[in-house]
Amino acid sequence: MDFYETVFIGAGLSCLAAARAWRGDAIVLEREARPGGLCRSEQAGGFTFDRTGHLLHLRHARTRRLVRRLLAGELAKLERDTWVYSHGVYTRYPFQSHFHGLPPEVAAECLLGAFEAERESEKRRAEPRRFDRWVLDRFGRGVARHFMFPYNRKLWTVPPESLTTDWLGRFVPRPDLREIVLGALADRPERGGYNARFDYPLRGGIESLVRALARGVRRLECGCEVRRIDLDKRELAIRGGGRLRFGRLVSSAPLPELVRMTRPLPDPVRKAASQLRCASVYNLNLGIRDPGKRFHWVYVPEPRYAIYRFGISSNFTLSAAPAGAAAVYTEWAYRGKRPDPAAMRRKVLADMKSIGLIRSRADVLAECPLDLEHAYAIYDRHRGPAVARIRRHLEKRGVYPIGRYGRWEYSSMEDAIMQGLELAGG
Ligand SMILES: Cc1cc2nc3c(=O)[nH]c(=O)nc-3n(C[C@H](O)[C@H](O)[C@H](O)COP(=O)(O)OP(=O)(O)OC[C@H]3O[C@@H](n4cnc5c(N)ncnc54)[C@H](O)[C@@H]3O)c2cc1C
Repeated sequence: MDFYETVFIGAGLSCLAAARAWRGDAIVLEREARPGGLCRSEQAGGFTFDRTGHLLHLRHARTRRLVRRLLAGELAKLERDTWVYSHGVYTRYPFQSHFHGLPPEVAAECLLGAFEAERESEKRRAEPRRFDRWVLDRFGRGVARHFMFPYNRKLWTVPPESLTTDWLGRFVPRPDLREIVLGALADRPERGGYNARFDYPLRGGIESLVRALARGVRRLECGCEVRRIDLDKRELAIRGGGRLRFGRLVSSAPLPELVRMTRPLPDPVRKAASQLRCASVYNLNLGIRDPGKRFHWVYVPEPRYAIYRFGISSNFTLSAAPAGAAAVYTEWAYRGKRPDPAAMRRKVLADMKSIGLIRSRADVLAECPLDLEHAYAIYDRHRGPAVARIRRHLEKRGVYPIGRYGRWEYSSMEDAIMQGLELAGG
């Protein structure tokens, strides 16, 4: 039986970045036919589709240098052009500082709510730990009602009162009252927040980053699904019968799956894993006749639409669609059993028609439905303690969870790459 000092489970960005920088004897095992995980891209009917929008928001000099070296001359640098669609109109993102253009009574409700929240903030002692309370405290009732509650209910698939604030970090912009008032009085383009600028590959979709990264990895085996891990024997079993011995494991497999395949583990660790929940995403990609819209992506908070967001990836790079057409991604989150795909497709097309991206089915030139089983790790009150308990135990036994689903977190491609580099100690 072969022995590797380090075995990486999964060839997404996190393990690829780690394996590329690793010193010593290592192998990457990937269950799919090609590397990339969520960062694979598909070709259909002349269009290139990612697994929904995958934009590079690079905050750290180190990752910026690495990505720009890997894709030298092949990166578009873009400024976000992003909107919210509600009440039948497009208003600028972020919603909480752009009430201009909303129906007057809605704009007034949002503005008065923001004033009230500001007044109440003087009495506040600590930031609430529950998401719904945080939203009301921070933005007021109007923003909660018209954007934050319905949008986040759709994305996380759970009520806002069951979410914590642990995921907010840089992801939710927090304008001050002056910006809010200015954004209500006039149409005010504003380029704030973590995703104001982004990079995107000129050709081949986001997978071209994966390909460039994977070229530097010495041993990578695809079509190798890890099924069982025996921590006492330091052995793992691969689907189809293969076995390997390992010294250390680095795993980007979803944390509950890692726990399920690992033996022996104490009951409290298994119980912690049973408390982890996630939302899945049905991602219907469409090649359509050019609708003449030049924005990048749009948030759709209202419950009458099933999708929570859509975007036009041929506005990131023209190569994503043939001339006269546009590559569009739509995102619909669900939890548990997957709803009927035919019914979901019908509803998404109806949403696209109602929002005005297509006039009829005849405008749809290509379709590429994708299912992202693990999309959003749900930040309820169990998540933090459960992840800490599982990681503590596994890491003591030489198993290191890494990446968005290894650590069961809400994080970006850059975070996945950073975690890999940090683990490799480079
Ligand atoms: C809807 C959505 C939109 C996003 N948009 C953006 C964005 O715009 N910008 C951004 O920066 N980030 C975005 N992200 C986040 C980004 O996709 C992830 O942070 C990143 O791809 C995670 O990489 P990873 O290596 O941690 O995990 P993954 O990409 O999930 O890779 C894990 C790999 O492990 C493999 N694997 C699992 N189990 C086994 C097993 N038992 N044996 C062998 N292999 C196994 C899987 O097949 C997979 O290839 C988005 C995520 C989602 C869900």
